[in-house]
Amino acid sequence: MSKVLLIGAGGVGRVVAYKCAQNPGVFSEILLASRTKSKCDAIAADVKRDTGYQALHTAAVDAEKVPELAALIRDFQPAIVIHVALPYQDLTIMDACLEAGVHYLDTANYEPRDVAKFEYSWQWAYHDRFREAGLLAVLGCGFDPGVTGVFTAYAAKHHFDEIHYLDIVDANAGDHGKAFATNFNPEINIREITQKGRYWEHGQWVETEPHEIHRPITYPHIGPKESYLIYHEELESLVKNFPTIKRARFWMTFGEEYLTHLRVIQNIGMAGIEPVNYKGMDIVPLEFLKAVLPDPGELGEGYTGQTSIGCRIKGVKDGKDKTYYIWNNCSHESAFRETGAQGVSYTTGVPAMLGAKMVLEGKWSGKGVFNVEQFDPDPFLNELGEQGLPWHEEVNADLEFEYD
Ligand code: NDP
Repeated sequence: MSKVLLIGAGGVGRVVAYKCAQNPGVFSEILLASRTKSKCDAIAADVKRDTGYQALHTAAVDAEKVPELAALIRDFQPAIVIHVALPYQDLTIMDACLEAGVHYLDTANYEPRDVAKFEYSWQWAYHDRFREAGLLAVLGCGFDPGVTGVFTAYAAKHHFDEIHYLDIVDANAGDHGKAFATNFNPEINIREITQKGRYWEHGQWVETEPHEIHRPITYPHIGPKESYLIYHEELESLVKNFPTIKRARFWMTFGEEYLTHLRVIQNIGMAGIEPVNYKGMDIVPLEFLKAVLPDPGELGEGYTGQTSIGCRIKGVKDGKDKTYYIWNNCSHESAFRETGAQGVSYTTGVPAMLGAKMVLEGKWSGKGVFNVEQFDPDPFLNELGEQGLPWHEEVNADLEFEYD
């Protein structure tokens, strides 16, 4: 039985709070802390009403202020911090965990506010400090990154001697009824999908123009959807941890309407991250855009359809070629019924809770900074379905892709 500090009261924080409360045998007490305390209070009231779990407290914290956060951690004494605020806070929260001596887990890699660039180097650089402190930092434990890494580790452990080709396929076939909205923090989301595409091939990164490469991919219970090759952070750790991979790519579906809005937003400069002086005030266009777009945490009501995310893998087993597909489909409506959040928050929050549970139960252990694929995938996948994200697999499936 352990205490947990949960940072971030957005859509994902809401789901993690529900899921920890549903596992009271592991999470004996929860402190939900975020920049705006009223958002934590609203989530706490819903969780208490719907689950009956009462040991949920709230606090205001600025997670970019290390002394303030370290003091909160020392005062509450959690066994682990689950960070589901924004990627800008990864390093300050890791610093505070080191200072206060607790384990750390997040769902998105560090991104500096003033450069639209994300990579693991900044967080991997903490490895020695976590190791020397005898602490564990688990990086990228949402769905993608997160479950996609665990799926790949599971395929490597049970289905392949060598993985050669990895295609991560991510469809959101949901309809939230809005002309334009993002499914998680708009600022982070737009920074991610407007950058150049990138994939791994024959030992190097190949760069593409944004959304240059696309093709239809058929998703289970959804059908064919136009899918775009984008860069996604788990590619960086997966090609490092599975060096037999010859090609690794990430595909995501976008609708025509969504891409048109995105193009306009970019063309008129609203995706900019450089401050613009307006009436004597410095305003970052993308931050202002976030303020006028729908709050992703509020999209759940009336959101229909489902997401489908999985890994399509080709490699060799016992000297023979083999293909394998492993995936999860998640319904926006059932996610909303259970937690008041839509499917993208749900598919991120469930693995974040489960990763923390694995650490607290000693099923995932180590000293230092690790990506999820470095742990044993079995205990995690044994439980993922019962925690709300059932997964499926198909051996020797038609993966729809071309291979060398
Ligand atoms: P939201 O924007 O809805 O929520 C973010 C929360 O963090 C808000 O409550 C916000 O507070 C809080 N916050 C921001 N800055 C600070 C700060 N300095 N100190 C304390 N709290 C702060 O985002 P989501 O819930 O949609 O996403 C949360 C995280 O999950 C993001 O990092 C996102 O990248 C990641 N994610 C990962 C996915 C995966 O599969 N791996 C998929 C989707 C998301 P306030 O309300 O005051 O602004």
